[in-house]
Amino acid sequence: MSNEITRSGSCLCGGVRFQAAGEPLRVGLCHCKDCRKTSGSAFHAYAVWPLNAFETTGIISSYGTRSFCPTCGSRVPFIGEDEAEVTIGSLDIAPTEGLVPTYELWTGRRESWLQALPEAQQFEHDRIVGDSTAGADISREPQQRSA
Ligand SMILES: [Zn+2]
Ligand SMILES: [Zn+2]
Repeated sequence: MSNEITRSGSCLCGGVRFQAAGEPLRVGLCHCKDCRKTSGSAFHAYAVWPLNAFETTGIISSYGTRSFCPTCGSRVPFIGEDEAEVTIGSLDIAPTEGLVPTYELWTGRRESWLQALPEAQQFEHDRIVGDSTAGADISREPQQRSA
């Protein structure tokens, strides 16, 4: 890719830092119970990069498929087998340039004061991978899923 962008991020205290090169595989929003609980927010906005485009430093703790900084408690990227899931809010620059969710998950749990993103594919539950270029990592179990 020409003119490849690198995005950096960190937890609030700066103990965990990371960088992601190039464009993510996908960007999504999730309204599921686990994302609400672990973020403490009404939904979770995230972007997923292939592991080979991703670097991180610092000590992290994990609970299921969520990782956080043991010092400040901020969510930090979760490192899966071949992907890294980055909470958009942990990126350094806001608003993020070019990271627009293309799908929403668990829409039945979306707060009534939020609108469906007009361009985004809507899923009642987890993502169903059909014509996507993303991995075929779906699971029926929200706690086990890779977003
Ligand atoms: Zn921290
Ligand atoms: Zn979720």
